[in-house]
Amino acid sequence: MTTETELMNPPALWQDTEDQAALRREIREFCKREIAPNVSLWDEASEFPLDVVRQLGRMGLLGIIFPQEYGGAGLGYTDYVLAIEELSRVDGSIGITVAAHNSLCTNHLFLAGNEQQKRKYMPLLTSGEWLGAWGLTEPGSGSDAAGARTSAVPHKDGWLLNGNKTFITNGRYGDLAVVLCVTDKSQGTRGITAFLVEKGTPGFRAGKKENKLGLRASDTSELIFEDCYIPAENQLGNLGEGFKDAMRVLDGGRISIAALSLGIAQGALDAALKYSKERRQFGKAIHEFQAIAFKLADMATQLDAARLLTLRAAQRKDAHLPVTRESSMAKLFASEVAVRICDEGVQIHGGYGFIKDYPAEKFYRDVKLCTIGEGTSEIQRMVIAREILK
Ligand SMILES: Cc1cc2nc3c(=O)[nH]c(=O)nc-3n(C[C@H](O)[C@H](O)[C@H](O)COP(=O)(O)OP(=O)(O)OC[C@H]3O[C@@H](n4cnc5c(N)ncnc54)[C@H](O)[C@@H]3O)c2cc1C
Repeated sequence: MTTETELMNPPALWQDTEDQAALRREIREFCKREIAPNVSLWDEASEFPLDVVRQLGRMGLLGIIFPQEYGGAGLGYTDYVLAIEELSRVDGSIGITVAAHNSLCTNHLFLAGNEQQKRKYMPLLTSGEWLGAWGLTEPGSGSDAAGARTSAVPHKDGWLLNGNKTFITNGRYGDLAVVLCVTDKSQGTRGITAFLVEKGTPGFRAGKKENKLGLRASDTSELIFEDCYIPAENQLGNLGEGFKDAMRVLDGGRISIAALSLGIAQGALDAALKYSKERRQFGKAIHEFQAIAFKLADMATQLDAARLLTLRAAQRKDAHLPVTRESSMAKLFASEVAVRICDEGVQIHGGYGFIKDYPAEKFYRDVKLCTIGEGTSEIQRMVIAREILK
């Protein structure tokens, strides 16, 4: 029996720089020591490992893509992809927690915040002292994000927020939430504005904790606003530009969901390779059957292709080039390929793939979120089609 994913197949598609190799080693050692032994326990109990997340903060991973002047590690998206992949290879729940914190909450603040807001909140977030959440989705508006109904109405010197956000990563444990609200219904997407809401603000609370298929150790919940007063200084970005900024945030965020897909799929492939050498039927290790060896070959090839698309998007982001098309392509392809790889991972394990003593079933459950979060595959195809038909 093995519940621990063996890291036997380094994804050395491109040459790591010395710093990247050191980062990869550091994350692997941390995962082996602090995460791998607890993955099944956290999953079973749907327990959010706050202590481990705090340690990731001390390692610099909760501010990995932000400049050092704001307390960040000052690294780029290629390093970020590496980090999310390595974490997700062992536990996708940790991967999505770090991804939502970095590329949604903190990045929205970094892109749209004024200097005062950045000086106040960035160091708290980049150090991991505070955890960040980002609330766009609502019960009635997911893919159609512009259909949001959570409202912000001018009140005294600030705003009064009312409404519900749903499926928000880090919703209960988050210390700061970026929340997209309707400030002028008549203006459609130009009538949406972002606000910074601190945990503990009267009228703001986390609601139901979601009981999920996969990524069960990540924190997903509702955010509820009932006459929640927000001072004017907590308006994030210009009035009516929240939706536009959210789309820019998602351009980067989708790279991290592609990286999450790569990590979960690599974990599934590692486990399948290992099992195919251990399991014997008809007097042979099962990888000696061409049907199994070809599955492994297809899995490895698809994963490498997905990694190339993801790294292209990351490199463009680091070069400050437009990435809407590239990040959507990476997210679409990596997530769909990852779902197939995890499916084959279960198949290669036979009945043991269906049993919780082996990691294959968890990869299979966790990976499905990747074709849904930060825009479903259908929405990615719409984005890509729009970009190539311009
Ligand atoms: C674990 C988890 C974590 C999440 N974290 C966050 C978070 O931190 N912050 C946040 O804001 N949101 C978060 N989400 C929400 C996520 O982004 C949405 O679930 C997703 O965008 C889909 O929205 P929906 O669930 O409302 O589905 P719907 O939009 O209702 O879609 C249902 C189906 O219809 C399809 N569909 C919809 N419109 C079209 C169309 N025009 N053409 C073709 N098909 C269409 C969809 O592709 C899908 O197959 C999270 C979700 C989950 C499950």
